[in-house]
Order: sequence, then structure tokens, then C-alpha cells
Amino acid sequence: MDQGGCSVLSENLWKEALKLFAGGVNSPVRAAVKPYPFYVDRSEGAFLYTVDGKRLIDYVLGYGPLFLGHRHPYVEKKIIEQVQKGWLYGTPSPVEIKLAEKIIRHLPSAQKIRFVNSGTEATMLALRLARGYTGREKILKFNGNYHGAHDYGLVEAGSAATEFNVSTSNGIPLSIRNTVEICEYNDLSCVEKTLKKEDIAGVIVEPVMGNMGLILPEKDFLKGLRELTKSYNSLLIFDEVITGFRLGLSGAQGYFGINPDLTTLGKIIGGGLPIGAVAGRAEIIDLLTPSGKVFNAGTFNANPLSMAAGLATIEVLEREKVYDTAKEATKAFSEELSILLERKGITFTLNRIESMFQVFFGVKKVTNATEAKQADKNTYFKMHQRMLEGGVFIPPSQFEVIFSSGAHNSSVVNTTIEVTRKVINEL
Ligand SMILES: *Cc1c(COP(=O)(O)O)cnc(C)c1O
Repeated sequence: MDQGGCSVLSENLWKEALKLFAGGVNSPVRAAVKPYPFYVDRSEGAFLYTVDGKRLIDYVLGYGPLFLGHRHPYVEKKIIEQVQKGWLYGTPSPVEIKLAEKIIRHLPSAQKIRFVNSGTEATMLALRLARGYTGREKILKFNGNYHGAHDYGLVEAGSAATEFNVSTSNGIPLSIRNTVEICEYNDLSCVEKTLKKEDIAGVIVEPVMGNMGLILPEKDFLKGLRELTKSYNSLLIFDEVITGFRLGLSGAQGYFGINPDLTTLGKIIGGGLPIGAVAGRAEIIDLLTPSGKVFNAGTFNANPLSMAAGLATIEVLEREKVYDTAKEATKAFSEELSILLERKGITFTLNRIESMFQVFFGVKKVTNATEAKQADKNTYFKMHQRMLEGGVFIPPSQFEVIFSSGAHNSSVVNTTIEVTRKVINEL
């Protein structure tokens, strides 16, 4: 067993992968682990077990969905039960009703919902709905917000593209580029100017930015968006693909007390299986086919397996102390990291909310994408690499978030802290 990085088994798989996949992977951030990614054989609770025989404490958690940790026994049981009853019918199934009812009960602004298969599909559909509802073409999004990998969402997007210094606009027609207006996050005066100047169908925003590292909304930013969109008859769309069921059962909208017109969901509501959803006011959702004129369809929409995994996950969130455990883990890990960095006299900013945090080196505050990009990402990467050698997996990219889960109990956190002490002292 090799505690220092990956060994020969991962390396051999990587050599094969480079022949098969662009850049060796099927989603770019996975190639950010250097010199090559470790390959995972199995997972349980807070741990990944690599093909090289190494155990890693996982703070990536599938980049967000695994809020209960890996293979929570109840979710695993419900997935297996559903597999034994069939996993695709091409007809409605009872479990989609149960999951929809649960989401609508918890999410303050949701009256109706449409299930799709990814967060990408969800935001694409929400934007189409906003256009269908308002009869306007343009949308407003924020620099560094990530809404998935479709053409409209990719204008000035955050996430892995930032890491690889690639413009996300390559391959996107100028005619589409020109329908997307951009403001800096937390800049309400830009939003007001744009809404005044252009006919904007909808403003889409991550209520907490989770794809540029972690960036929090300043006091009154979301409230300001709500008021401005209302007065210019534009829809407010919260992209809660990360924050939905992570900041609490009522998502960011419950956490901050602001109701959007539409909400996009994904990640946690599928319990680790592929999913996306658009929820919102009934009169807007009813515009979708077959009751309305805005088209959406999907072979795998509301597939019973994703529905069962999502339903089981929310049931666990309702009855177990997942939020407390995950928040405590994030608090203990990030506070220890802050103390260690301060003691070493290193300049940094640490942004944190509930079970999410990220650290930025060399900067005093990070309130938008421009400030995030000024951070010293080499030092972050070095920290990631040393932590990995010590058995702790935090994202390889500065522009992702360090997530905790209900499986990150005090013993897991204590091990994490021991590794962090060693890493920072040697940084
Ligand atoms: C992950 C993410 C998406 C895209 O979801 P996929 O399921 O990866 O397509 C959209 N919006 C936000 C805020 C995300 O974090």
C-alpha cells in the first residue's frame, strides 16, 4: 500500500484511459488530480478505497450529491429493492409522486415540478420556461456562476473551465452568446442597469456560489434580486443544484427567506444517481408540455431508480442528524485550518456556510469571480496534493468546494485534522 499518491494500478488504467477519452477522462475536473487520477474500487461512508489499496477520507463526495456519505445503508437498500422491481418502465411510477410531494413540501417556492436527468438539463429547461413565460429572449447570469454544460449556461461560467484556463464560450454561436447578459456576483447596480436597458426573461443565480470555490451572497443581494426582477417583470431563477437540501431541507431559499419564481435542483435530490428538476409556481411549470407550449421530454425523466434513491435520501435527512454532523465537521476542519494558517502568517480567506467551505490563499476577501481568480491556486493545489498523500481527498481545483456529509463523524474529522496539521506545518 502506497500512502504517497497513486501507484502502478491507477497508472496503468490512466495509460489506457488516455487512448480512449479526451484528456483521459469524461468530465474535466477529474484530470486535475496529478500526475494522474487515482481510480476508485469501492466506497463506504466517508471513505473512498482506491484500486491501489489506499483509503481516502472524501471531502469531494461526487462534487456534491453524496450528502449522506457513500452507500448509506437505507439508500442502498431502497436502490436494491427498486432494481429488483425494474428500473425503467416508460410509464409513470408511484415513487415519482412520493419524491415530488416531499420536495414540494420542503421547498418554500415550489408548487409543481418536472424531473429531468441532470442539473444541466434543469437549468436549460428553466431558461426556456422563463422565455416561454415572458415572451422575452435574453437572460442575465453572473460571472463565474455555473449552471451546467449547455450553451446558455456556459457564457462566463465557473467550475473546471477556470482551472484549465479554457474559455467556456468556444463552440457556442455568437447569436446565443448575445442573448446572455453578465453581471458580477453581488453587484446589484449592474443588475438594475441591465434590467432597465434590456428585456430580460429571467435572472439565474446560484444563491450561494459553489463553482468558483465558495462565495457567499452579501446581505441583501438575493433580496435585491427578488425586488428588481419583480419590478421589471423578469423571472428569478435560483440554481439550487448544490444548495438544495444541503443548506437545509428548505434549501437556500428557506435559509435566506427569499422565494424565487423557479428553482433548479439536482445532485442531492437524486441520492447519488443522475437527476435534475425544475420546480416553481404552478402557472409557470404548467407551461411545459403536455399541458403547455414549452417543450420538454426525456427517456429517463423520473426514472424509478433515481426517484427511489432521492426519496430515500430525503427520508434520511428528515429523521437523522445529518445537517448537524456535516456542519460540525465543516466547522471543526475549517476552524483548525484557519488557526494553522494564521499561526504560520499565511494570508488567506476562508469562506464557509453550513457543510461547505473553501480556502483562498493570498487574498483578503473573495466576494465574486474576479476576486476568486486572484487567489494563489498553486498553494491550494499543493495543499490538495499533500492532503491526498496523507489520505484526505479535497478537490484538486481551487474552484470547487470542500463538502462534508453525515458520515463525517468526529473520528473522521479528528483524522482529517491530524493530517491538516502536518500538511500546513510543512507547507
Ligand atoms: C453541478 C451543477 C450543475 C450541473 O449539474 P449536472 O448534473 O452536473 O449537469 C448546475 N448548476 C450548479 C449550481 C451545479 O453545481
